[in-house]
Amino acid sequence: MINIVLFGKPGAGKGTQAEFLKEKYNLTHISTGDVFRYNLKNNTPLGQEAKGYMDRGDLVPDELTIKMLQDEVEKHPDTKGFLFDGFPRTTAQADALDAFLKSKGWEVAGTVALEADDNILVQRLLERGKTSGRPDDQDEEKIRNRYEEYNEKTAPLIDYYKAQGKFHAVDGIGDISEITKRLTAVIDTFN
Ligand code: ADP
Repeated sequence: MINIVLFGKPGAGKGTQAEFLKEKYNLTHISTGDVFRYNLKNNTPLGQEAKGYMDRGDLVPDELTIKMLQDEVEKHPDTKGFLFDGFPRTTAQADALDAFLKSKGWEVAGTVALEADDNILVQRLLERGKTSGRPDDQDEEKIRNRYEEYNEKTAPLIDYYKAQGKFHAVDGIGDISEITKRLTAVIDTFN
């Protein structure tokens, strides 16, 4: 069992890299953004609750997000491990994840952050917005709000995981395959 948290600002490339990493390490990939978008598309009660927050680029409240994450984890009792992408994004979520995994005799093996300059990331998101259809990628105001949410609520997790000796970072700028190599070099040291 190896549980990895993929960390980074919006647009840092977590989703892209997760596709490679889940194959390589045989992990169950849980992207909270993807799960929320699925619920939005299917107009579920969860989707209806999350919609306003997501449209504005605000974080969805912890209680809702934590419950959803736990439900996703419970769907894969026999997995070799999880690749968490977009979770945790607040200290409360990180605490909940630690407690929840512990209740199963599991833990976070490590966190890897993809680092990149904000200006590059905003450009990437605006580019992605042209084809993704995501309303939160099409408006610079909403994108800026997501960065404010990140700085205020998610950035403290860097120290949170550093305190546990579980924080690692790689340069998120470069060829996709090159970045995958940087990530795997770090992940290969987990265990
Ligand atoms: P990005 O990393 O590009 O912002 P995501 O697809 O990870 O995109 O997330 C999209 C939106 O889904 C976020 O702006 C937020 O509203 C919601 N969301 C995703 N993960 C979380 C989380 N862990 N906590 C709260 N809200 C979340």
